[in-house]
Order: sequence, then structure tokens, then C-alpha cells
Amino acid sequence: MSQPTADPSLPSPSSAEPLAGRAIAVIGGATAGAEVAHRLAEAGAFVAVFEQNPRPYGKIEDGLPRWHHELRRKEYRTIDAKLSHPHVHFVPNTRIGRDIEFEDLAHRWGFHAVILANGAWRDRPLPIDGADAYIGRGLVYQNPFIVWFNHADEKDWPGERFEAVDDALVVGGGLASIDVAKVLMLETTRARLRERGIDEPLLALELKGIPKVLERHGLRFEELGLAGCTLFYRRRLEDMPLVEIPDDATPERRAKAESARRKLLEKAIEKYRFRVEPLSAPDGLLVEDGRLVGLRFRRTRIDGGRIVPTDETFDRRGSLILSSIGSIPEPIPGIAMKGELFAFADWDLGRLDAYPNVFSAGNVVTGKGNIVASRKHASHVAERAIAAFLGVGEGDRCAESDLLADTDEATRAWTDRVAGALADHPPHDPPALARLAARVQARQSASDYPGSYQTWISRVTPPDLE
Ligand SMILES: Cc1cc2nc3c(=O)[nH]c(=O)nc-3n(C[C@H](O)[C@H](O)[C@H](O)COP(=O)(O)OP(=O)(O)OC[C@H]3O[C@@H](n4cnc5c(N)ncnc54)[C@H](O)[C@@H]3O)c2cc1C
Repeated sequence: MSQPTADPSLPSPSSAEPLAGRAIAVIGGATAGAEVAHRLAEAGAFVAVFEQNPRPYGKIEDGLPRWHHELRRKEYRTIDAKLSHPHVHFVPNTRIGRDIEFEDLAHRWGFHAVILANGAWRDRPLPIDGADAYIGRGLVYQNPFIVWFNHADEKDWPGERFEAVDDALVVGGGLASIDVAKVLMLETTRARLRERGIDEPLLALELKGIPKVLERHGLRFEELGLAGCTLFYRRRLEDMPLVEIPDDATPERRAKAESARRKLLEKAIEKYRFRVEPLSAPDGLLVEDGRLVGLRFRRTRIDGGRIVPTDETFDRRGSLILSSIGSIPEPIPGIAMKGELFAFADWDLGRLDAYPNVFSAGNVVTGKGNIVASRKHASHVAERAIAAFLGVGEGDRCAESDLLADTDEATRAWTDRVAGALADHPPHDPPALARLAARVQARQSASDYPGSYQTWISRVTPPDLE
């Protein structure tokens, strides 16, 4: 029988649960962090979740475009429920690497393990020398752009603001770049409609698509006078990774998946009226008066899956250049990188050579900015789910939540393996656990955290958060 501890917020170190007496720090409280924290707490561990922002929702709040209204709300509720576990201790407004050194957390606080669940928040740099000098002067990256878009209607939102302008160039090719193109087309269409005294809600326009809504008003897209945005992609349309193709796919299966990719993309183009220019890789900057006004592209060809640059180049001017070529993890001082990613020795559990007690989960390991892109195989369900996600799924919007089912399964298996690795470490005795808990509590107090997750989250959620 387990003995009660003095503090009810601490799990009993002597209970029979597999992780009783173990203390775990999780960095990042969003989809992956909340899920892992909850599962470890259920296994008896004391879990502290360090989150850099006041709210823990990560890419659900700031990456998944706000027209996924219901999915976002559902995910907020899921994360809230998981972080409300009595043995999960949420520590907001605390960035590891700035407010607490990573090495300190991993070696000196007394945690048995540290879990990296900090996602992928850095935009992969546009691969043209000197491009970043034009950030804010003609060049905008996807992550801050979508963060703004998701908060654009909040009255008191303090972050950086952008404008969705007509005639923009988008560099990309994945799902997120289609989101960016959709934001531009939906918002510029709404602006033109407003000039005509028509106020169309974003959600209706996204759901029905631009041509259908215009038709209701007796208008055609061409009458709006919009140039529209163009998405430049360095591969062929059928290479766009909207449907994953397994490495061992037969030629027939490959051809089928490629045709599905093309169809999905064509539907999205028809519904949201952006253009796509394939086989075009960014190659140079067009600068006028200190501002980026366009890009030089190099025509590519695909040879056996490889991108081969050709001698042909062409210039395109645009009112804004939006770079959407992928999200990668932000470095944390103290953790070695290998290229764009953390230098993991074991990619399954996200383990690092220098820190045997560190594991990683979610986007930080996949190095991808979204869960869709990290899927390993293409199934019928996935195709339906991705069509729903893109808004081209024939009214089948709820199918997109199927995309989450796989992630749940993967996280469950992952947590079981980490729990297995930790079960060998001797548990803390009650005084050691209480000392660690006091240290966590001191950091919570420094962030003005009242001790109750529910009280905190209602305090830091603006009434107009979508
Ligand atoms: C159907 C579906 C489709 C989706 N598609 C997309 C998509 O196309 N694009 C997209 O962007 N997202 C998409 N998402 C969102 C997706 O859920 C997340 O990208 C994914 O689940 C990753 O979660 P994560 O917890 O690994 O990372 P994140 O959600 O990025 O969470 C990481 C957390 O760590 C915190 N953090 C980071 N660094 C530190 C630090 N040093 N110290 C403390 N805290 C830190 C961050 O603030 C954040 O809260 C989709 C979600 C669903 C449900």
C-alpha cells in the first residue's frame, strides 16, 4: 500500500507506480510536452513543465491557422486537461536557455530526466546570401506571419503586426506554405469585398472557397482586380509532400500518390485562387532603394528525385516576399547542434550524447514544423484527413482530427520506452523531492503563477483569443 506524502501536490515516492519518486522536467507545454508530462505524471512521477510563454498552446495557437477554429479549441482543452494533473507543475514565462540554463536544469536541479518538447520555431533561412538583411524591408518569414494572422483580431495583442498584401511571392512547397498562400488570398479578397461594402467572415470564405462566396454576391474573382499571390516551389507539383510516399512504395503506388498530391493542390488552387510556379528555386535578390522588391529564380529539373539546377534564370517582382521553407528548432545554449537540428545520438527517443538523462519528443525531433509533414506513410485515412486540413475535403472538416490519432499512438509508445529507461534510476526520498518541489515553486512565484493551472489560464487568456 502506498504511504501518503505530506504535500498532496507531490506524488508518493513509495507508491507502486513505475515512476514513483522520479522527478522530470519537460521543456515546452504544448501538444507534445503536455501529452508526455501527463503520461509521466500518471506513471507516478513529479513533473515540472517549463514554458516560455504565458499560455502553453505552442503551434496550436500560433502555427495552425485560425480557421481551424474547432480543432484549435479542442486542442486547447486537451492541453489544459493534461497540464491540470495534480502532479504536473506548470512553470510559465520561463525560457530554458535564458531564464534557467539548460545545463543547470539537466545536471543540478535534481531531475532524473529532462524532456525537450520545445518544437520547431525558427524559420529555415531563405538560401540566398544576405537575404536576412531585408527582414522587415520586403522579406517576411512564415512563423511570425502566422503568429500575427492568428492574433490579428485581438484588441490588445502586443506582438509584431504584418499586412496581407496583394501580389506577394511565397517561397515554399509544404502544407504550411499553402496556409500562407491561403492567408494572403483570403485576406486580400476580404479587403476588396469590404471596399464594396461586403463583410465576409474569414471562416465562411475559407470553408466555401473564394469563387463560391463571390458568386453569391454576383461577382467573379477577376472583377476584384487582385493580382493574387504566387507560390514558388523548387520541385514538380506532384512532388509536393501533401501525401507521404513510403520509401518502399511500388511504382504504381508512387504514381497514385503523386496523382493524389496534384489533385489536392489543384483543388486548393481552384478554391483559393493562388498560383503555383513549380521547378523554381530562389537564386538572387532584387533590391531597390534598400528594399527587397523581388527574387531571381533558377529553373530546376528533377532527375531521379534529385533537384538539378539549369542555366535558365528569371526575375519576379512582388509586393512582399514570404519565405515558408520549413521550421527548425531554435538552438538552446548548452545543447550541441548538427546542422539545423540538435545533435541527437538516438533519433527515436531524442537522446543526446552529452546528457544521458535527456529525451526529446514532438517537432523538436522530427525537425518539422507540423505534425502532418512528420507522418511516415500515406494511407487512405491520411489523404482524407489532409484534404480536410487543406479545406478541400468536400465538407469533411472533422476528418482532420484523424491526423492526431497517429501522434497519440506514437507518443504513447515513446513515453512507455522513456518510463522503462527511468525505472532503473533510484527514486528520490521525500525530503529530496520536497526540496526540488520548493525550487520549482520559487520559479512559479517569480512568474506570478498562483499555483493552480486553471486560475492561471483564465487569467492569461484574452477574452477574444480565437
Ligand atoms: C491536424 C493538425 C494539423 C497541423 N498542421 C500544422 C501545420 O501545418 N503547421 C504548423 O505549424 N502546425 C500545425 N499543427 C500544429 C501541430 O500540432 C504542432 O506543430 C505539433 O503538434 C507540434 O507540437 P510540439 O509540442 O512538438 O511543438 P510546439 O507546438 O511548437 O510546442 C513547443 C512549446 O515549447 C515552448 N518552448 C520553445 N522553446 C522553449 C524554451 N527554450 N523554454 C521553454 N519553452 C519553450 C513553445 O513556446 C511551445 O509552447 C497541426 C496540428 C493539427 C492538430
